[in-house]
Amino acid sequence: MRKFKTESKKLLDLMINSIYTNKEIFLRELISNASDAVDKLNFKSLTDNDVDIDSADLAIRVSFDKDNRTLTISDNGIGMTAEELEKNLGTIAHSGSQEFKTENAESQGNDVDIIGQFGVGFYSAFMVASRVRVVSRAFGSDEANMWESDGLEGYTIEPAERATHGTDVILTIREDEGGEDGEGFDAYLSEWGLKNLIKQYSNYVRYPIQMMVTKHRQKPTPVDADENYQPEWEDYQELDTVNSMTPIWKKRASEVEQKDYNEFYKSTFHDFEDPARTISFHAEGTLEYDALLFIPGRAPFDLYSKDYEKGLSLYSSNVLIMEKCADLLPDYFNFVRGVVDSADVSLNISRETLQQNRQLRAIAKRVEKKISSDLEDMRDNDREAYEKFFENFGRGLKYGIYSSYGMKADELADLLLLYSAKEQKMVTLAEYAKAMPADQKAIYYASGDSRERLSKMPVVTGVLARGYDVLLLTADVDEFTFQAMHSYKAQGLPKVYEDDAAREAAEKAVADGAEPETEDRTLELKNVATGDLDLATEDEKKDAEEATKENESLFTAMKDALGDKVEKVAVSARLTDAPACITTEGPLSLEMERVLRRDPS
Ligand code: ADP
Ligand code: MG
Repeated sequence: MRKFKTESKKLLDLMINSIYTNKEIFLRELISNASDAVDKLNFKSLTDNDVDIDSADLAIRVSFDKDNRTLTISDNGIGMTAEELEKNLGTIAHSGSQEFKTENAESQGNDVDIIGQFGVGFYSAFMVASRVRVVSRAFGSDEANMWESDGLEGYTIEPAERATHGTDVILTIREDEGGEDGEGFDAYLSEWGLKNLIKQYSNYVRYPIQMMVTKHRQKPTPVDADENYQPEWEDYQELDTVNSMTPIWKKRASEVEQKDYNEFYKSTFHDFEDPARTISFHAEGTLEYDALLFIPGRAPFDLYSKDYEKGLSLYSSNVLIMEKCADLLPDYFNFVRGVVDSADVSLNISRETLQQNRQLRAIAKRVEKKISSDLEDMRDNDREAYEKFFENFGRGLKYGIYSSYGMKADELADLLLLYSAKEQKMVTLAEYAKAMPADQKAIYYASGDSRERLSKMPVVTGVLARGYDVLLLTADVDEFTFQAMHSYKAQGLPKVYEDDAAREAAEKAVADGAEPETEDRTLELKNVATGDLDLATEDEKKDAEEATKENESLFTAMKDALGDKVEKVAVSARLTDAPACITTEGPLSLEMERVLRRDPS
């Protein structure tokens, strides 16, 4: 008996003692493993001339034996050697296993989330089975092996028999599992129950999932039948394909119910929450492809860690070429999950050639456009959902602007949500600009740790008192983003007329029924705490200068007392209620200096 590795043991304990209500997902996990194994072999046969396989023979088979309480999931995929059985089933192969350990230490008992979160895979079998046997023969080998475990302490691996390559996973279903309802119905050990589960969770698996099913037919009419002959019926068994097999991404959105998209998303991308958005599109013409993209409802736990890998699954004619094709997604949309399937993309594409691939670049461009326009649609038509989206993923968008030195601002600026001090809610830059009084020349913002504190800062209240809104930025990346952007091009603002005659003419035209004229204006983004905002009127400026002169000796004394802590002391025209404020003159605000000075650890 070999012992399970510690982290596997913990996960197994969790599985066995699970209070998880959705235990039935074990079937989808095992079927998806079978499908992966078939995928691997299929891919090999297409790229390696020595592998001679007929794709049409590839299949997954589900069968059960009610008397012995066994359920078997078989595939004729790539199979596993004894070493692979040991390596793949003796330890957790998931990337999330590390996090799982740490998270689990703190939230024992909160297993529901954990189980959903990591797509626990193979071990989920132990939620319903008291014993699991895996008989497998690797493609190209003539030996088979059996892995067997009761999920408690360890497992055994010994030589076994299997006629061809592939894997059988044989579960002994526990007495209390499967929803025996007293009338003999048993979800995991009945044709009807299994068929339903396959349809529900694995309908779009691309290989046939076959099952022996009972059918009913009329017996052939005997040749000597007279007119009184009554047709007779009989039951017979037939191997049937239970799933629809058409990949879900090939279907038009109008043919698919949202719940099916959700199910596909959750099972494929190991999330327990429905996606926030589903984007399906099909390109025709010189470059044909199908794409199905999802915007998750929440950020994956490792999104902001260096281990996070962005990318879309890339298929060519249903064959998985690459699980995470990074070139299909820009960094700032790294949270998007999905699939691109194009017969026009070569199977032999490698990570190096991808970069140069013109077709992929064309697809990536369109993917990016689609995501942007979907986000815009959500922003304009489902603001609540968009705010949640922005809470989850806004940081990446801001970072996209910052790290491109503002080059991506055109694409991303309108997707930002920022907190308005005046409106006391999140607004877009366009909304900010639209609400500006006619004489406002710039977009004002302040940056710091908390909205509370910012909204009380004299430099902020001073600008607000003039009737101008101030955006309060509280995320570390915000000010950097704004600096990278410099300005925002606001569209469709009411036209400002420089001379009175022109304005009067325009006012008259509007009075006569014309649409008011609009114009696009580039607005500078101005930090209220740095430099001169140039808001004071000529009179105010003169007053301030005079006051400074009159009190020269006082300010010199203050400067002497404060020494190096300040550059100069002067009367400010920017204050309204507060008696004094601190500003900076360089490009950095005090808040940003504080961020930069912060210990990076
Ligand atoms: P995942 O599928 O996320 O990798 P699982 O726990 O579901 O994790 O499976 C662990 C590993 O076991 C798989 O990565 C695969 O290598 C192997 N495996 C599981 N089932 C099969 C199968 N039917 N055929 C071949 N290999 C399999
Ligand atoms: Mg799996």
